[in-house]
Amino acid sequence: MNIDLLIKNGHVVDPLNKVNKIADVALAEGKVLQVAEDLDPTNAKEVIDASGLMVTPGIVDPHVHVVPEGAGGLSFHMLLRKGVTTTLDMAGPIGMFLDEAKNYGCGINAGCLQSLAPKRDLKGEDASAAEIGEAIDKALAAGAFGIKIMGGHFPFTPETTGRIIEEADKRGAYIAFHAGSTVNGSNINAVEEALELAGNHPLHLAHANAYCRGQVEDVLMENKRLLEGLKKKPNVISESYLSVMNGTGALINKETGRAASGVTRMWLERKGYTTDKAGMAKAIKDGWCCIYGPVGSEMLYLSPEEGFKYWESKDTDVWCSFPVNSPVTMVNCATARRDDGSFVVNALCTDGGFIPRNVILENGLRLAQMRYMELEDVIAKATYCGARMVGLTNKGHLTPGADGDVAIFHSCGKVQYTIISGQVRMAAGICFDGPGRVFTSKQGQAAVQNNGLDCIVPDLAQSDYLKGHAR
Ligand SMILES: [Zn+2]
Repeated sequence: MNIDLLIKNGHVVDPLNKVNKIADVALAEGKVLQVAEDLDPTNAKEVIDASGLMVTPGIVDPHVHVVPEGAGGLSFHMLLRKGVTTTLDMAGPIGMFLDEAKNYGCGINAGCLQSLAPKRDLKGEDASAAEIGEAIDKALAAGAFGIKIMGGHFPFTPETTGRIIEEADKRGAYIAFHAGSTVNGSNINAVEEALELAGNHPLHLAHANAYCRGQVEDVLMENKRLLEGLKKKPNVISESYLSVMNGTGALINKETGRAASGVTRMWLERKGYTTDKAGMAKAIKDGWCCIYGPVGSEMLYLSPEEGFKYWESKDTDVWCSFPVNSPVTMVNCATARRDDGSFVVNALCTDGGFIPRNVILENGLRLAQMRYMELEDVIAKATYCGARMVGLTNKGHLTPGADGDVAIFHSCGKVQYTIISGQVRMAAGICFDGPGRVFTSKQGQAAVQNNGLDCIVPDLAQSDYLKGHAR
């Protein structure tokens, strides 16, 4: 077969196939054709010289946010520049997500979990199984891959949370949970509650590292409880990220006069700020609450003065970060293993997208350089493991016949090329626009196709979501 794209002389790391050497990667008809040394470039239509660069399967980020703040291409472009070829949006809204994927997806394989919130998708904090079922059906029919419970930000009662998990499972819908309820805030107690509520149902616990910030007891003790809890629950899968910045909302609720998000209120209070508009304004000006906004074609953290102006200009309706994640927790979540050698936390993620913390490669490679992890394990958790979570079995590895998704980057993590289905979609920071591909539920297929988008329905039976943990 003729080679469409030949990547020569890169340091190829493909953990599934135990490749870690200087080699060539040949792509043809959108798939991987061959990984071998000294492939003949004569018949290749296009050749990339990857000497001095690393070549791996495309980065799979199983927790990002691409809308609403990053709409207009910002999020997808930011992800492409970080080597991301497959990603899962963890909030939606699904309609906006599909528009964004259609106009700016750049070939990225993306799925969307529609968030459920009280007083928006359900009448209140408590809801019947029938009302919940209807809301889930509506989200799936609109094209969602599954559902996200936003407990830590916008909580339901524990009973209703449990009911949502059950109703999602009945429908075979993927469900993720930012732990938290009307009883527990976004903390380690909420994780233990979430593990209880999951019962034997499959569940994706979002950003495992983010519940160990010393709210309940010492950070290390919280981290121990997290990892031990997850070890006991093979039906609960999770990801963790490698940034000190959290992600939350800076919106002031007009009715209550306070920060709308429970997470935001907590971090204001813990540094002695009031949770009203004046307290929030002071936290922004002091640099404790970090506002980010569009600069050129990316979202970037703004200076306190610029951040304050942007927040006011948007009538407070912007996202923000507090620097509250423990580096020790990040390392522990990235490296912890079960007795059988599998990772306790399945994959690396960023919880980024438009939140400017897409640091899987930069910080993941640092973990390898500092010998916290083997390079192969970092790449496995940045590629194959995330693909396994969502059942995309043809991604995250360079087996002949696998999807031709490849990241080419410097050893510092700076990405030079992002290749999706055999096509260069980003080169030296320049992104090539076009529609994305959307992975969704069986129920969501029609809506995705009606939007004119290519559609993939992953086989969840093959995923870690249903099968527990795999190495
Ligand atoms: Zn998130």
